[in-house]
Amino acid sequence: MSDTVITRFAPSPTGYLHIGGARTALYSWLYAKGRGGKMLLRIEDTDRARSTQEAVDALIDGLTWMGLDWEGEPISQFARADRHKEVAEQLVAAGKAYYCYATPQELTEMRELARAEGRPPRYDGRWRNRDASEAPEGVSPAVRLKAPQEGETVINDQVQGTIKFPNKDLDDLVLLRSDGTPTYMLAVVVDDHDMGVTHIIRGDDHLTNAARQALIYQAMSWDVPQMAHIPLIHGPDGAKLSKRHGATGAEAYRAMGYLPAAMRNYLARLGWSHGDDEIFSTEQMLEWFDFDACGKSPSRFDFQKLANTNGHYMRATDDAELLVHFKVFLNAIEDGAPILQWLSTPENETTLLNSMAALKERAKTLVELKDGASYLWATRPLSFEPKAEKLLSDEAKAILANLTTKLEALNDWTMEATETTVKTFANEQELKLGKVAQPLRAALTGKTTSPGIYDVLIGLGRDESLARLKEACA
Ligand code: GLU
Repeated sequence: MSDTVITRFAPSPTGYLHIGGARTALYSWLYAKGRGGKMLLRIEDTDRARSTQEAVDALIDGLTWMGLDWEGEPISQFARADRHKEVAEQLVAAGKAYYCYATPQELTEMRELARAEGRPPRYDGRWRNRDASEAPEGVSPAVRLKAPQEGETVINDQVQGTIKFPNKDLDDLVLLRSDGTPTYMLAVVVDDHDMGVTHIIRGDDHLTNAARQALIYQAMSWDVPQMAHIPLIHGPDGAKLSKRHGATGAEAYRAMGYLPAAMRNYLARLGWSHGDDEIFSTEQMLEWFDFDACGKSPSRFDFQKLANTNGHYMRATDDAELLVHFKVFLNAIEDGAPILQWLSTPENETTLLNSMAALKERAKTLVELKDGASYLWATRPLSFEPKAEKLLSDEAKAILANLTTKLEALNDWTMEATETTVKTFANEQELKLGKVAQPLRAALTGKTTSPGIYDVLIGLGRDESLARLKEACA
């Protein structure tokens, strides 16, 4: 075996990238990339009823948005069915597997008997040692693994530790169904082996599968890869994360205005720790991620913490890069098109960029950024929030009308000049600054909260600012 770490992410295409899957992919990616290795992508599309190209596209879209890349083309598990079959036949030829002619009815009877006797349902091995000559006519057999009946199968899991499974509890599992299709258990083993996977990282709901899969590896005399079964993600209430908890797909997080870097940070921390650190760059995660600091119990998804993490990344991301993420976000939401349209001119883009530093301080998500920046693309006549409307009393309008005359007389429309003008005006009129600034904000933005008022004046520019002021005073 080479020293290169090869991991894989092996999602079943269910229509989106589940948030738990996103974290599994992230761990597989961190573990491999942090060690100079590579992550492969295998689409477990053997369930033909559920596997659509759309579902595959959604997975790829989710991973791409998360910034998790894989080596080479995605591998289709379904496309490898012939190879799976070949391995099953090889095992039969080697005496490690056998044809089983038990009928569906016999299998049902076996299950019912087991239930009646209070035993777990298990195949009774009735074809394990029979000769091919006894095969009934016209029945296509399944292929079963001749699993060891004594001793135990030990999984040295990197997260869960040493887990022992008594072999008597692992029955002769089916490798090929009687219709010739490979089972999931066989397909996973053959694929992982053929892909050269050195580390299998996945949810701990696959732990019992690991024992059965180990038996197939042993039957083929293949090395069993290292395994790391990570605990599942639970909702804030402690129950397994489900639709009931709201967003379960990565694309929903994109539409809620989270940044991929924040998602990576939050998801990495959800189930793994590095001292007391909460914020780590992707480079640090690549350097530090390992299984010894992964928890063994499920982690609870905490939306508040995700929002705080995201707020941190919003502030730390440079304005131009944030704009790129903002556009991706706008493309993902229903009402993004008009804003994208507005942003399509270089002037407007510059307008937003100039206000970005002030806007991002006030936003934990891109949704909040969009709402906070909306005055920039609002068109006249401006609509006013009720509270803003209230601020524009007759008295306030009179004040603003006077101020507008002063502002109009300005030669340079700069932060300093507008600030001096507003402050001097308030002084002269013996007004508290708020008495001027609050209606000014309302008139310019239609809202009661916004970035600093001079940022707003500069962001909107001279013409638009004066036009809005005049309109509000009218
Ligand atoms: N396709 C499986 C799932 O989506 C993962 C199987 C594996 O990682 O071995 O849960």
